[in-house]
Amino acid sequence: MDKFNFKIHHRDKNSNARTGIITTSHGKIRTPGFVSCGTAATIKSLTPEEIKACSIDVFFVNTYHMMFRPGIDVVKNAGGVHKFMNWEGSVMTDSGGFQAFSLGENGPRKQTKAGNEKTQFNEKTLVKILEDGIEFTSAWDGKKIFLGPKESIEAQQELGSDIMMSFDECTFYPIKHNYAKEALKRTHAWLEVCIEQHKNNKNKINLSQALYGVVQGSIFEDLRMESARFIKSKDVEGFAIGSVANAKEPREFVFKVLDWTLPILNYSERPVHFLGIGEIEDIFESIQRGIDTLDCVIPTRMGRLGYIFSKEMGLSKKYRYDITKSEFKLDNNILSRGCRCYTCSNFTRSYIHHLFKSRELLGYRLATIHNLSFFGSVMEEIRNSIEENNFLKLKKEWIKK
Ligand SMILES: [Zn+2]
Repeated sequence: MDKFNFKIHHRDKNSNARTGIITTSHGKIRTPGFVSCGTAATIKSLTPEEIKACSIDVFFVNTYHMMFRPGIDVVKNAGGVHKFMNWEGSVMTDSGGFQAFSLGENGPRKQTKAGNEKTQFNEKTLVKILEDGIEFTSAWDGKKIFLGPKESIEAQQELGSDIMMSFDECTFYPIKHNYAKEALKRTHAWLEVCIEQHKNNKNKINLSQALYGVVQGSIFEDLRMESARFIKSKDVEGFAIGSVANAKEPREFVFKVLDWTLPILNYSERPVHFLGIGEIEDIFESIQRGIDTLDCVIPTRMGRLGYIFSKEMGLSKKYRYDITKSEFKLDNNILSRGCRCYTCSNFTRSYIHHLFKSRELLGYRLATIHNLSFFGSVMEEIRNSIEENNFLKLKKEWIKK
């Protein structure tokens, strides 16, 4: 069984982009790599063979969702998440915190009118932040649940994923510095508990799990740098950058946070994951700064809505078009010129338009296969360009207005 490791293969001469391989006990993840979203232990509507064929090495399973449906015990009983879903590749799990916190977006983080940011709890608030974790109300059955760093890592160990995320406080925007600082203090204290639990893994589901420490600090340079330094000093196998790409922060901060933290993190040659980013132009910006993996629901969720990715649509259309529009009714071209995915090898726009109009399940499947393959091939193009020191040239070619 391979132990978790990360090897950098090549550094682009003109940017901080780099290629490499993350090895887990379930195979190799080519970096930079796109991590697809498999929330409930499935990339909706695809079989494992189809996922592999889309050039996807790893996908995310959400601990929070698994806790409620089917329950961690069910997955443990099946021998872990890989066996449960018959996926032989690598799996990442999140801490469950983000979903739990999202429920309380208008809860304890919301500042009072008087500007008092003290964590408060009232009957309407779904999430209560405690020093040793969070208490929240289950969105499924209204039960009160406690989730802390120990519980989160325990659940991820029982799922047996290859890469686990540390349990952090996901802050939302807008936020004041003093609250972000308090939240960061908790996140760092929780990381110590996560590491302890990671070292004392008592179950045998996956003996080669990696723990990524999540960098927080919201939009504040001093806090983000403090967090990056703190997490870098810890015994974790990798890093993740959280709460900036997915919580309403102004876009300008998304990449500033990378500029503040990556020079610190990248120095230690451990992989860095960017949580919740996935528009094509953002992928280029992130990789240029030294991000190794990133995840997003965009290709799969958009696919199910009928949005088809194609380079020809360009930046202004966010590289996609809506196949349900009547202009595709008689269009016998494939979804995207030059695409060699299963969908484009076999079907036309006209047919897929018809499937969506008729709400046929095959439409969602074919669109998902195309979109994931599109992301898989963009990542491959990016990796090749880095190897040839041409990354910036490729980026320019893609990001023209
Ligand atoms: Zn295609």
